[in-house]
Amino acid sequence: ASARSRSKRLFSRAKAVFPDGTARATVERDPFPIYVQRGEGAYLIDVDGNRFLDLNNTYTTLIHGHGFAPVAEAVVDLLRSGTCFANPTEHEIALAELLTTRIPAMERVRFVNSGTEAVMFAIKAARAFTGRPAIARIEGAYHGAYDWAEAGQGVSPGKDGWEPVSIATPTYRGTPSSVAEEVHLLRFNDVESLEARLRAVSDRIACVIIDPMPSRAGLMHPEPDFIEALSQTARKYGILIIADEVLNLRQGYAGASARYGLNPDLITAGKIIGGGFPIGAIGGREEVMRVFSIEDAKPLLSQGGTFSANPVSMAAGLAAMAAMTPDAFDHLEAMGDRLRAGLSASIARRDARFSVTGAASLFRIHPKRVAPVEYRDAYLSAEEASLMRRMSRHFLELSILLPYGAAACLSTAMVDSDIDLVLTAFDDFLKAEIQSGKE
Ligand code: PMP
Repeated sequence: ASARSRSKRLFSRAKAVFPDGTARATVERDPFPIYVQRGEGAYLIDVDGNRFLDLNNTYTTLIHGHGFAPVAEAVVDLLRSGTCFANPTEHEIALAELLTTRIPAMERVRFVNSGTEAVMFAIKAARAFTGRPAIARIEGAYHGAYDWAEAGQGVSPGKDGWEPVSIATPTYRGTPSSVAEEVHLLRFNDVESLEARLRAVSDRIACVIIDPMPSRAGLMHPEPDFIEALSQTARKYGILIIADEVLNLRQGYAGASARYGLNPDLITAGKIIGGGFPIGAIGGREEVMRVFSIEDAKPLLSQGGTFSANPVSMAAGLAAMAAMTPDAFDHLEAMGDRLRAGLSASIARRDARFSVTGAASLFRIHPKRVAPVEYRDAYLSAEEASLMRRMSRHFLELSILLPYGAAACLSTAMVDSDIDLVLTAFDDFLKAEIQSGKE
């Protein structure tokens, strides 16, 4: 029996019930997934008893790692006294107070159940507020599965290279063409494309949705000029800015927009604010968030949701976020700085064709000599994709789960020796690649 025989058997069983054997496309399988028995802080233990350092942390959700005691304690009592009600609870007020106190762009909040749903309602809110149908978004960025948010995510070069940026093609086959007509693409960090595109269609655009450090598109820093141009152009044409911080809220106590000088009208959150339970949030300026209010004679946007603001997600989120003090953010960031600097030092020492992007507790390794500044720079050729797959396998051999093609992240459960493990694994990988003549 192999060291992963139970996982392999579970995958055969799963193939009979799920299309392709998994419950979501984003499950890593090489050639079959690792089925989890339990999590323990920074580590995962699989059904075969193997232990892995988890740099995925449920797609960056678990900022404290697995089984964080304050979350478990906050939730255990609730489980016996009812997990969801049609009535509100005090828990939702407490989490909303925490968020509105910390995050400048969140004057008012609404809770939903996922990042996808948060993005959907933020876009609907922008449409309701402006009375305009279309949106603009960054090429290659991921904003969840809402039709208008997903179009433009899976862009790839054609036979003759990259097309000029314009209207977004939906990634999912069969999406109505009317959706694509209402999604305009912008290139990240490209001031010219931003101004030209928004000028051309300004009177139809309700909002620009932007992740301040788009992870799937490359996890690169926003350039100050770009943030400035975005703010000015949006203001000039009455276009709202939605900062999608579902992932990047973990960049600091006040979130990512505050960190990079962006003042969005609306902001979406998810992942870390639920402490490991399903959650999404739409926040924003009081005036804009008013579209959700049914106190007005005719509400512009009546948002519901059976599980929205359920007490379990609220209490878990509050416990997780309360533990994320400014000191905790600083500590995570210092670990992230050490990790990114160490990776970059290996690359420089070995003169390898790699680069590193990211900030705070997030990082991404690129098989590119020059760090990408936008999606097209980060796009992997077939050869680069297979190099990344080799790298993931190398990490897996050393019991480290390194997400492939998205952001990897640290948690407060990690310690210096975990960082050293990652640095050694990467340096060994570069060494092996160079010795085999592949790099
Ligand atoms: N927006 C961003 C920026 C995200 O990173 C994600 C999830 N990775 C989403 C939206 C969608 O969130 P969810 O998976 O909770 O629906």
